[in-house]
Amino acid sequence: MTGNADDVVEHRPLIVAGSGIAGLSAAIYAGRSNNEPLVFEGDEPGGQLTLTTEVDNYPGFPEGISGPELVQNMKKQAERFGAEIKNGIVDSVEAEERPFTVRLKNGDVYTADAIIAASGASARTLGIPGEDDLMGYGLSTCATCDGAFFRDEKIMVVGGGDAAMEEANFLTKFASTVYLVHRREEFRAEDYWIDRVMEKVDEGEIEIMRNTEVTELHGSKEEGVDHVTLVSHPEGHPTDKLDDPDTEEFDFDVGAVFYAIGHTPNTGYLEGTGVELDDENYLIAQGGSGGNQTATDVPGIFGAGDVVDSHYQQAATAGGMGVKAALDADDYLEELKREEKAAATSEVATAESDD
Ligand SMILES: Cc1cc2nc3c(=O)[nH]c(=O)nc-3n(C[C@H](O)[C@H](O)[C@H](O)COP(=O)(O)OP(=O)(O)OC[C@H]3O[C@@H](n4cnc5c(N)ncnc54)[C@H](O)[C@@H]3O)c2cc1C
Repeated sequence: MTGNADDVVEHRPLIVAGSGIAGLSAAIYAGRSNNEPLVFEGDEPGGQLTLTTEVDNYPGFPEGISGPELVQNMKKQAERFGAEIKNGIVDSVEAEERPFTVRLKNGDVYTADAIIAASGASARTLGIPGEDDLMGYGLSTCATCDGAFFRDEKIMVVGGGDAAMEEANFLTKFASTVYLVHRREEFRAEDYWIDRVMEKVDEGEIEIMRNTEVTELHGSKEEGVDHVTLVSHPEGHPTDKLDDPDTEEFDFDVGAVFYAIGHTPNTGYLEGTGVELDDENYLIAQGGSGGNQTATDVPGIFGAGDVVDSHYQQAATAGGMGVKAALDADDYLEELKREEKAAATSEVATAESDD
C-alpha cells in the first residue's frame, strides 16, 4: 500500500538510508545539488567507523583521525549544505508507484522521488549454542566498544581477515592474552595486519589457534563467558570434519569472545522493490564506466558503500560510491523534472486545443 496524503510525514526529492561514510558523502553532494537530502541514521548512527578509534588510511589526515570524529565532521559538512539527518530505521520501501513510499520502523511514512541505499553491512555471528544468551554479556562484535570491560582477562577473537587482526591487536591493550581463533591455516588479512599481529605473537601478547573453530559458548548473563568449546583439525575447517578421528574437541577458559567474521549487508528493507541482490544479499548496482554506476535495476533507487561492495569495504571507497550515488540521483531527479515539465506543457496544450 502506498502512503496516502494523510499519513505521510513529509515528501523529499531524496531520501538516504544510512548515515555511514557512504550515506554522509552522498548527503554532502546531494545537499550541494539542492536535492534536500533526508538521511535516516539507522540503528548505528555514523556507521561502522564509529566503532574504531583510529583511522589511518582515510586520505587527507596525515596523522590519522578517530572514526567518530571523521563521521562527526562529515555530518556537520552535510548539514552545512542543507542535508537533514534524522533518527530512524527504514523498514520498507514501496516502489510500485511514484513517489516511493518509505516506511520507518516507528511507523512514520515518508515519500521520495529517489532513494540512496547506503545501509552498510552488519556483523555476522556463528549461530552456535550460547550465542544468543551471551551476546552483550561477554560476547561482542565490537572490540572498540567492549574491549575495556575485560581488563586482564583472557580474550578470544574469532576470524582471519583484517577486522580480526585489527581487533586482536587492539584487544592486547586490555587482555592478559588474546587468543586468535581461525578455522584455516592461512589468514585472509592484508600483510600489514598480519605483521602487526605477528609482532604481538613474538611479544607473547597474542596466541594463534589455527585450524580451530568455536562450537559452543558457556557462561551466564550474571557471570559472563566462562569457557568455550573448540574443535580443531590439522587440515582446517574442523566443523566440516566432526567424525574424522583427527578432529579434537576441547574446552578452553576465556573471559570474553569477540567475533570478527564478516558482515551481512543490510538490504532487508528493499525486499519487494524489485532491486536485484547477489547470492549474499549484497545490492547489485550497475557499475562499469560512465554515468549511472550506482543505479540499481529499479529506476530511482541507487546503492552505495558496503551494502553494494562486498570486496573493498573501506571508508574511502564507500565515500566515493556515496558521491557517485548523489550525482547519479541528481541526474535522475533532473530528468524527472524535465519529464514532469514536458507532461505539464502537453496537458496545457491539450486543454487549449479542446477549448
Ligand atoms: C572496527 C572497524 C574498523 C574499521 N577501520 C577502518 C579503517 O581504519 N579504514 C577504513 O577505510 N575502513 C575501516 N573500516 C571499514 C569501514 O568502516 C566501512 O567500509 C565503512 O564504514 C562503510 O561505510 P558505509 O557507509 O557503506 O556503511 P556503514 O558504515 O556500515 O553504515 C551503514 C549505515 O546504514 C545504517 N542503516 C542500516 N540499516 C538501515 C536501515 N534499515 N535504515 C536506515 N539506516 C540503516 C546504519 O545505521 C549505518 O548508519 C572499519 C570497520 C570496522 C567495523
